[in-house]
Amino acid sequence: MARIYTPLPSVPDHVALELDVLEWWEREGVFDALRERNRSGPIWSFVDGPVTANKALAVHTAWGRTLKDVFQRYKAMRGFHQRYQNGFDCQGLWIEVGVERELGLNSKREIEDYGLEEFAAKCRDVVVKSSQELTRGSKRLGMWMDWGNDYFTFSDTNIEYIWRFLSIVHERGWLYLGHRSTEWCPRCGTSISAHELAGSYVDRADPSLFVRLPLLDRPGESLVIWTTTPWTLPANVAAAVNPDADYGRRLNGEWVAAPRYPDESFDEVLRGAELLGWRYEGPFDQLAPGGSVEHRVIPWDEVSLDEGTGIVHIAPGCGGEDFELSRVHELPVLMPVDESGRFYDEYGWLHGLSTVEASEQIIGNLEERNRLVEAGLYEHRYPECWRCHTPLIFRIADDWFISVADIREQMREANAKVEWVPDYFGKRMDDWLVNMGDWNISRRRYYGLPLPFYPCSCGHLNVIGSREELEERALGGLDQLQELRRPWIDRVPVRCESCGEEVTRIPEVGDVWLDAGIVPFSTLGWQNPEWKEHGYATGAAAGLTKADLPDHAYWEQWFPADWVTEMREQIRLWFYSQLLMSVVLTGSAPFRRVLGYEKMLDERGQEMHGSWGNMIDAEDAFARMGADVMRWQYCAQPPNQNLLFGFGPAEEIKRRLLTIWNSASFFVQYAEIEGFRPTYADLERGPGCELRPLDRWLLARTDKLVAEATDALEATLTFQLIGAFERFVDDLSNWYIRRSRRRFYSFDEAAFRTLWVALAQALRVIAPVVPFLAEHLWRNLVAGACEGAPESIFLASWPEPRELDEALLAEIAEVRRVVELGRQARAQAQVKHRQPLRRAVVYGATLAAVHEDEIREELRIREVRFEEGAVARVRFKPNLPALGPRLGPNLPAIRAALEEGRYEVDGADLLVEGERLTPAEYLVERQPVSEDWIVAADGDISVELDTTLDPELEIEGRVLDLIHKLNTMRKEQGLALTDRITVTLPERDADLLAHADWIKDEVLALEIETDGGTEPRIAKA
Ligand SMILES: [Zn+2]
Ligand SMILES: [Zn+2]
Repeated sequence: MARIYTPLPSVPDHVALELDVLEWWEREGVFDALRERNRSGPIWSFVDGPVTANKALAVHTAWGRTLKDVFQRYKAMRGFHQRYQNGFDCQGLWIEVGVERELGLNSKREIEDYGLEEFAAKCRDVVVKSSQELTRGSKRLGMWMDWGNDYFTFSDTNIEYIWRFLSIVHERGWLYLGHRSTEWCPRCGTSISAHELAGSYVDRADPSLFVRLPLLDRPGESLVIWTTTPWTLPANVAAAVNPDADYGRRLNGEWVAAPRYPDESFDEVLRGAELLGWRYEGPFDQLAPGGSVEHRVIPWDEVSLDEGTGIVHIAPGCGGEDFELSRVHELPVLMPVDESGRFYDEYGWLHGLSTVEASEQIIGNLEERNRLVEAGLYEHRYPECWRCHTPLIFRIADDWFISVADIREQMREANAKVEWVPDYFGKRMDDWLVNMGDWNISRRRYYGLPLPFYPCSCGHLNVIGSREELEERALGGLDQLQELRRPWIDRVPVRCESCGEEVTRIPEVGDVWLDAGIVPFSTLGWQNPEWKEHGYATGAAAGLTKADLPDHAYWEQWFPADWVTEMREQIRLWFYSQLLMSVVLTGSAPFRRVLGYEKMLDERGQEMHGSWGNMIDAEDAFARMGADVMRWQYCAQPPNQNLLFGFGPAEEIKRRLLTIWNSASFFVQYAEIEGFRPTYADLERGPGCELRPLDRWLLARTDKLVAEATDALEATLTFQLIGAFERFVDDLSNWYIRRSRRRFYSFDEAAFRTLWVALAQALRVIAPVVPFLAEHLWRNLVAGACEGAPESIFLASWPEPRELDEALLAEIAEVRRVVELGRQARAQAQVKHRQPLRRAVVYGATLAAVHEDEIREELRIREVRFEEGAVARVRFKPNLPALGPRLGPNLPAIRAALEEGRYEVDGADLLVEGERLTPAEYLVERQPVSEDWIVAADGDISVELDTTLDPELEIEGRVLDLIHKLNTMRKEQGLALTDRITVTLPERDADLLAHADWIKDEVLALEIETDGGTEPRIAKA
């Protein structure tokens, strides 16, 4: 007879079975079939946050990709029609810095010498290669996406949509050119905006200088200031004091804040307000810029008396607060360094030096001139560039901003309607919105969105809103315009719409978060009059994707997204830019629900770094753990905690997965022997044969799993699904199968049908998390065995949750607790599990009482008595943390009364010495009757065992040991499950022959005899 099932090996080869399933999905077109089936279903809109296309798949990225896939698969099983569009982020500094490294370019000048056309081509190459790698890795992970129809943020279509957004922003008067102090990366030669800063602070030791500045009108006296950025001293224009603080003059004439030096005595003490206006000699007046400034003391309430000298060096060209002060006090602004962080020529001997190189020279020079009071090192947190890790400096720059004042409240209202999981992420978004400054959208770089701004000398700012408008107003250069990108776009001047003069584009490109933020509009065809097949793939994206540009009706169907998910840092990045752009364009949020998650660390809780050797390569993870185990690891993680990812946890997961594997294997083994063919309709209707209570319980337990799994995924909490699944598999394996084993040795239809339903339903609900394992087992246990079953588990819909038999579930849950306690009690008494015992008393388990037989059998106890409450042998003690604060000094009296039994029981409360103790205020200690009894308790249930043995119990214990030993020998000798044997025992076991029939039954023996041997032996009969 042909086999129905394929036998399972003792452990799964995850990698092999995954590759096999991948190949089968591909060959059979399973994903296409699924999409086709759901095409007429209700819409569930998910928008993929683009992954930066500058690398291969990393285990960090695989986390988010797994979550996306889990929920898309779940929704697909529920019949939802979905888009499955994957996205790649293709522009900006991530891409540029990688190419610079590859080409060995170190500055913007070197990029320009290399040539912008060639540079653009190299950047595109990186995107092409990386998008192929990311696609390959994602497929291996099991991610089902509409590969080949991806969106690429460098497409001209995407760019045009951003242009449209910017021109709307301009129409509303929110676009402006700001002249302000900004964090600046000297290597990248561009400003860094606030949302890029968070998280880029590192510990650093910088010089700590105390510098003397002689007072011009008070000979022999000086101010002492403190700084950690020596390079800013040549740009000093003022010194700020706290007007309300006391300042004192030291013997040597130095002025400092008196509270900073409590141990010193001062010749003269003045209020800060009295120092205002004092003129002093600047630190570098011998250099032209400093020499032309009149340095004076100014007031500032924010001057800290916690560090430094209480007199603050002010250089408005080098700091944000300093710059603000310059506006209030009309101070000159000296900008000492250029875009690459090097000193301008007018700074004499400093010219051409970087801020770091200048530090040493400046310190040396101050020392020579006797201006240095003290020099040391100072440890602090300091921001660095998130792309190239160069320490940031402050510069004054002209950057383009979107003013957020008018939409801040609208954004907060829109965000308040979004359902955030975990909910504190929503609060973080709100905090960000409350505090966000204007959005700095310009970057002085090359490979990015060209900002369509054409300022004219007549004062008019021309903002181009589309390619069509560009072509209409162009005064040349259109024939060479390959892409809406530098350098080509820079060669297209346009006509000023106000005065008609020729104007050129500003050289700046846009913040990359514009690229990603526009995605819910550019990919869904917002305001696009007609559907264009493959119309999205324009500019740099041409040839990389076949994605369509849909029409506006489509956008209305799919916007806003029902769900998006990304990691926490995206709150101030992608979630923010999307929200802002969407509120500007539509007045509402672009997503209804968000799942955020925290960080990934290595398994010991440390950050993963390539240079620390603890980075896990995704390919390595695929090869050594397999995709299912990776996915399980991601999904088991509560999203409000960091994930500790690694090979150690992977081994643990593999061990856990063995329980479902072994259960399936058990079924396969006996179902094959009996030639059992399942009925697919059983999954809907339940087994249509007479069931035992245990079967009915397993079916109810399966219903409960389905309900819990559905709730977990509806709440987008995968870790709850995993918890529910593990509890179920434990019940399935360690209760149902163990208690029903015998029914599978001889054909018991109800047992086979019940177990099959439980296995198949469990596979369906866990399939989104471990699609390979679930598919592999489904094909064996279901698709291959029963008629009319879908070939793929993903083509079987999600099981419908049913009404639960709560009473039955509660009963067996209690039985399992009682048995567990009985086992604990045995372990405490060191009585092995196979040794039968005479008596047990169970307290507090009222529901379990009807299952007395099962409990007796499970615990191998002759007689089990159930007692309502804890009547005898109970001691009450005060619960100190709860009762201590309430009773204070009365506590010892209460304790004594409880110990001596002077109390009354009133319902759940105790009445002692005139006090009423609630259950939370006392502890129950149960003690066994005598030394031979042992007790285990858990909450309100306790189990007591009589551990006394008599000769009858002892001999039964030995028989059970023997049965176990003989069955182990059967396995070791490779006997088939149905083989009969003969048994030969040593003479010393002759007394066991009183139980010969029992032994024969349990080990399938035809004969048992004894001889002079020393150990039991078996032979095939
Ligand atoms: Zn940088
Ligand atoms: Zn003009």
